[in-house]
Amino acid sequence: MSTKKVYIETYGCQMNEYDTELVRAVLQKENYTLVENESEADIVMLNTCSVRENANRKVYNRIHTLRRERNGQPVMIGVLGCMASNFRQKLLENRNFNIDFVIGPDSYKRLPQLLKAAETRGEKAYDVTLSEFEDYADVYPSRQGGVNAWIAVMRGCNNFCTFCVVPYTRGRERSRSPLNIIEEVRRLVDEGYQQVTLLGQNVNSYHHQGKDFAYLLERVSRVKGIERVRFTSPHPKDFPHELLHVVAENPKVCKHIHLPLQAGSSRILNSMNRTYTKEEYLKLVDDIRQHYPRIVITTDVIVGFPTETDEEFAETHEVMEKVQFDAAFIFKYSERKGTIAARKYPDDVSAEKKKERIVRLNELQNSISLRKNQAHIGEVQWVLIEEESTRKSLLDVQGRNDGNKIVIFPRDSHRKGDFVDVLIQGATPHVLRGKVVEHS
Ligand code: SF4
Repeated sequence: MSTKKVYIETYGCQMNEYDTELVRAVLQKENYTLVENESEADIVMLNTCSVRENANRKVYNRIHTLRRERNGQPVMIGVLGCMASNFRQKLLENRNFNIDFVIGPDSYKRLPQLLKAAETRGEKAYDVTLSEFEDYADVYPSRQGGVNAWIAVMRGCNNFCTFCVVPYTRGRERSRSPLNIIEEVRRLVDEGYQQVTLLGQNVNSYHHQGKDFAYLLERVSRVKGIERVRFTSPHPKDFPHELLHVVAENPKVCKHIHLPLQAGSSRILNSMNRTYTKEEYLKLVDDIRQHYPRIVITTDVIVGFPTETDEEFAETHEVMEKVQFDAAFIFKYSERKGTIAARKYPDDVSAEKKKERIVRLNELQNSISLRKNQAHIGEVQWVLIEEESTRKSLLDVQGRNDGNKIVIFPRDSHRKGDFVDVLIQGATPHVLRGKVVEHS
């Protein structure tokens, strides 16, 4: 048991946010106190991400700042998450960082033990072993409020997309048992949650003793008290008809699919090892829309993957025009240490080309998103309020509709966690605006 105070800072994706909730639970069980301000902490943990280059840089800068700010004071600093797996040696051996411990994503249960070793023996502690089994099914995350609860239903990934570090930093795919997940959802309902988001690096490849993701979605939606079920992020290769059927027919499953495209050229997709062609992706979008024509589809795209020509980039542009995504997260390719792409393909698309391409796709997507959002004007949408103010106004609240779009409207007497009917009256590429109307 410890009397130490811990401050945790989280970088990167939602899975990392979830892992921080697991770490909080592990530490609280051993009596560590979690604090909101690093200046009060005896131990600072950075839960890191390795997916983008600037994420790594941010963490290195943060370590320097922390050491400078706490100069002379006894504080332990440690790195958790994907960077821990990927850069263990660099982090531990670089004297400038002066890191005390490095713990990978499958070793969080050992944190108290490793911290103790670092505290009492003054040793640098590390464990970045990846497990084929660790699913944290026996750790109930320590959440910090909010109206949506994230639940990791599987961890790791077997896909080895050539640009991605996840299979190396988070290990092989493994799924939790449906019963264990449903038990967690029931507990969440008792705590007042009405919405859950099922989370996985490749969430729709979930499988546990013959049960697949369609089964899990259906079962979770049946938990009494749950109003909405979301999931992220799926891979286009794992969309059997049963899953599309559940998404389309089950009123509790939100009508939004985030479907990473990554590139519109089949040759580039093959170099990325995405395991689908442009035509197969477009066919899947057609299938999804046949099941539910008004579904919201969003995507991720990488521009400037090695050897991408102007013509191949034009194919990505064309696919985006054809599909008319509701929103897209567009990134410039940057080499990640340890990936297949870093070993096999020189990063040969110039920075100017990447910039030009990202600007063109963002322009295209903004005009599509605006048009799609404007089409909602006049509709009444069911919105779950997530924030009691917005960045721009203390008098407005912010929520999300079924399609995961942000909706802003005057607060009046409405509170975080309320479901309300909102008449949509205006739109930008990124948000909808409206006013609450009586439930019809
Ligand atoms: S599906 Fe590809 S991009 Fe997604 S986590 Fe797995 S390897 Fe990475």
